[in-house]
Amino acid sequence: MLRTINVSEITDSIKEMCIKANHFLSPDMDEVMKKATETEESVVGKQILCQLQENLQIAGDQMIPICQDTGMAVIFMEIGQEIHFEGGSLSDAINEGVRRGYEEGYLRKSVVKDPIERENTKDNTPAVIHYEMTEGDKIKITVAPKGFGSENMSRIFMLKPSDGLEGVKNSVLTAVKDAGPNACPPMVIGVGIGGTFEKCALLAKKALTREVTEHSSIGYVRELEEDLLKEINELGIGPGGLGGKITALAVNIETFPTHIAGLPVAINICCHVNRHIVKVI
Ligand code: SF4
Repeated sequence: MLRTINVSEITDSIKEMCIKANHFLSPDMDEVMKKATETEESVVGKQILCQLQENLQIAGDQMIPICQDTGMAVIFMEIGQEIHFEGGSLSDAINEGVRRGYEEGYLRKSVVKDPIERENTKDNTPAVIHYEMTEGDKIKITVAPKGFGSENMSRIFMLKPSDGLEGVKNSVLTAVKDAGPNACPPMVIGVGIGGTFEKCALLAKKALTREVTEHSSIGYVRELEEDLLKEINELGIGPGGLGGKITALAVNIETFPTHIAGLPVAINICCHVNRHIVKVI
C-alpha cells in the first residue's frame, strides 16, 4: 500500500540532522577516537588527541560546532518505492532543511553559487543530494556534512585490471601520503572500487558513512581494510600530522561490478570529524 509523506517532515528532519551532526560526533566515531587516544604512543600525538577530546566535550556542552568548517551538506536519500510525497518538491524540501539547519544552528555557510565566480549563497545550499530507490515504504536519510580540507585531498585512479589488489593498495597509500597533515589526521578513508568513473567516487563517499567500527562482509575486502589500516598507521603521519601511530581511524571499502577493461579506484579522505547521521522515517 502507498504511504504518503508530507515533504515538510523531511525539511524538519534534515534541519535537526544538520545541527546534530555538526555538534556531536557519531557514537562509532566517538568510540574509535577514544580508543586512539588510549593507544597513541607518541607524546605529541597523544596530546593532540587529548585536545581533540576536550574540543568535543566543549562543543557538546556549549553547543559549538565540532569544527569551524561545518562542511557542504551531502545527503543520501534511500526512498522506498511505496512512498508518495505530497506538499511540494522533495529536493526543495531537503534544501530548505539545510538552509534552516545552518541558519538556526549558527553553522558556517561555506557554499559558493558558482565554482569560478565564487559568490557565497549565504545559507549553505544547495546540498549535494544522492537519491536511491529501495523496496518498501521507508525512507533512510543520511546527512554527512563534508569539510573540504580533507575533501581536497581525495583522489581517483583509473587502474588497469592487471594492477589488481597491489594497484588498489598503492593508490590508497599514495592518496594518504600526499594528504599528510592537510586532511586533519587522524583520518577516515573511504574507498570505492569498481563501477565507472563516477560510480566509484560515489561508493567512496558512501563508504565514509558506514559505521567505522564495522568491516565489509566480503572476505577479501575485509582483509584489505585491515591491511590498509595497518600500513597507513605505519606511515608515521600521526595526529595533526605531527608524527605518531594513529594516522587513520578506519578504512571503509565498498565495491561494485565493473567493466572487463577497467579497475576504477576512488579514495575519499575524511578527517577526524567524519560526520554522519542516519534517520529512518
Ligand atoms: S578537514 Fe575536517 S577537521 Fe579539518 S578543517 Fe575541514 S572539517 Fe575541520
